[in-house]
Amino acid sequence: MNSSVSSPSSTVAHDALATLKRVYGYTSFRGAQREIVDCVVAGEDALVLMPTGGGKSLCYQLPALLRDGVAIVVSPLIALMQDQVDALTALGVSASFLNSSLSLDEARSVEQRVARGEVKLLYVAPERLNTERFLALLDSLSNANKIALFAIDEAHCVSQWGHDFRSDYLELTILHTRFPQVPRIALTATADEATRAEIRTKLQLENAKQFVSSFDRPNIHYAVTDRSDERDQLIDFLDAHAHEAGIVYCLSRSKVEDIASFLRTKGYNALPYHAGLDAQTRRDHQARFLREDAVVIVATIAFGMGIDKPDVRFVVHLDLPKSIEGYYQETGRAGRDGEPAHAIMVYGLGDVVKQLRFIEDSDAGDEFKRLQKSRLDRLLALAETTACRRAILLDYFGEAQPNGYRCMNCDNCNDPPDTWDATRAAQMLLSTAVRTGQYFGGAHLIDVLRGSKSEKVLARGHDQLPVYGIGNGIDADTWRAVIRQLVARGLLHADSEAYGALKLTELARPLLRGETSLFMRPIASKQERRAKTIRSKAESLKRARRTDEDEALTSDAQARFAALKTWRTAQANAANVPAFVVFSDATLRAIARAAPVTREALLSVSGVGEAKLARYGDELLALVDSLR
Ligand code: ADP
Ligand code: ZN
Repeated sequence: MNSSVSSPSSTVAHDALATLKRVYGYTSFRGAQREIVDCVVAGEDALVLMPTGGGKSLCYQLPALLRDGVAIVVSPLIALMQDQVDALTALGVSASFLNSSLSLDEARSVEQRVARGEVKLLYVAPERLNTERFLALLDSLSNANKIALFAIDEAHCVSQWGHDFRSDYLELTILHTRFPQVPRIALTATADEATRAEIRTKLQLENAKQFVSSFDRPNIHYAVTDRSDERDQLIDFLDAHAHEAGIVYCLSRSKVEDIASFLRTKGYNALPYHAGLDAQTRRDHQARFLREDAVVIVATIAFGMGIDKPDVRFVVHLDLPKSIEGYYQETGRAGRDGEPAHAIMVYGLGDVVKQLRFIEDSDAGDEFKRLQKSRLDRLLALAETTACRRAILLDYFGEAQPNGYRCMNCDNCNDPPDTWDATRAAQMLLSTAVRTGQYFGGAHLIDVLRGSKSEKVLARGHDQLPVYGIGNGIDADTWRAVIRQLVARGLLHADSEAYGALKLTELARPLLRGETSLFMRPIASKQERRAKTIRSKAESLKRARRTDEDEALTSDAQARFAALKTWRTAQANAANVPAFVVFSDATLRAIARAAPVTREALLSVSGVGEAKLARYGDELLALVDSLR
């Protein structure tokens, strides 16, 4: 219905907005989308850095619709191509993909349709691009001026330092050398400056216009809590998120399995995902996560790259992530649809020791190990801060916030922690480490401080030390927090070669001498933590609904919303596509609120374009009418 729209550039400005409404049903561009679309439509190269959920797909899809010929989209995410093609097809756009999941015949038939000019967007895996067969197809298209653009998605895959490195991506320069007249747009959600520079040089995008969006994800609420009884903590959190889909990240495969079966015994629809499962099971679990309602995926970080599900409502980290980049990428999978979402991390000192050991035991060179350690330090600073978490995250990505900034959508902002003077306690702890030869981990030091009669304490004669029992007045949880704080601030170093023995660093001296002091947050009790989870949820819902149009649904509208969701599930199942391909939650909610009577009113809802109106309009109007 909208194939081969070609436009003289003078009318492009108007066309872009009209096409946005006609095809996607959206009434306005988000952030820099407008400028990016204009740039590519005008035939220039673009490098787009936008956080997950920022709306990158539109940046190449819309120019594809506005330029003559087919857009070639390079993506490493084979599993996703089908969903993307389904979503475009549902919008009335002709799209296809070429990857190893197709048989030879199927691939051939796609190539023929492309050659005949019947395809507007073609997704290809990078390894296919550089084959003679595919280049020949591109040559013939190019000779007829029928390549609209090249889009290079997940462009950070060229980075040899990142964990998503794909050597095929290095070959993509051929697009530029062989077809210099075709505009290229490279996109990524990976923000740091080094990766950015690498993308530019490796893809020969030196002359591309760069579009850097703010990496803030205002709808995500961030919280960090110290580990006490991890499973209880998890259940507390999940109980506040019943009927929602989310991801629980764990470090090891065995923990993934344990937590997933534990959650199933608690009645959650929880599925494990890790690299140790066979490919079929992984695909199956991923598909169920995308298609069923309220699935909780328990996974290692093997899960997630290319999870385009827009309505993931929460991401839990049961173990410390490896870096702030990793944390941000993983939590960024929540709330792509802009609706309120939660990221919560549970961590303890053991995590730090474990990660340090990973780093030490790896085969990497010293330089790389140092880098990894400094990344871990930054993450600890995030975990232990009493200031705004978002400010720390944004600062990390080069978006410094003014001093004292409060986002009002993180645990520390909603519930500013009181601080207490922990100087004396810290001195006791450091002395105990010294007196015991800097040879022991946190648990033993706490035993000594609290005057425990444990076998280890008695066997080593540590009950004879002057520090024995001097920390009796402080509970073990608080001691653990003191230790974490000292490690996070670099006063104590957990020596991974000595099984996590805590050793003093130079930085400990001023504190021991009483020249500096240490203020820290008090430990929340279990009840307080529970209250906090619930409170923060209420806060962020309130925040997300602060505009009039986002007012909470009335009970009538709520009933409509529920009926619309049931209707959507049936549609999605019948078409064998994920629910969001039919309509997003946000669109269903808007329909429930507006209760449209006419086709025009339905079309004015954001997310309802012409193709979907034609396909679902009558049914939706009848459904809404029947509930009046
Ligand atoms: P990214 O690839 O950057 O993670 P997507 O392209 O998947 O993000 O977009 C995220 C969500 O936002 C999608 O559901 C998309 O349809 C929606 N979206 C994108 N642009 C707009 C817009 N201008 N108006 C309304 N919704 C939009
Ligand atoms: Zn904040």
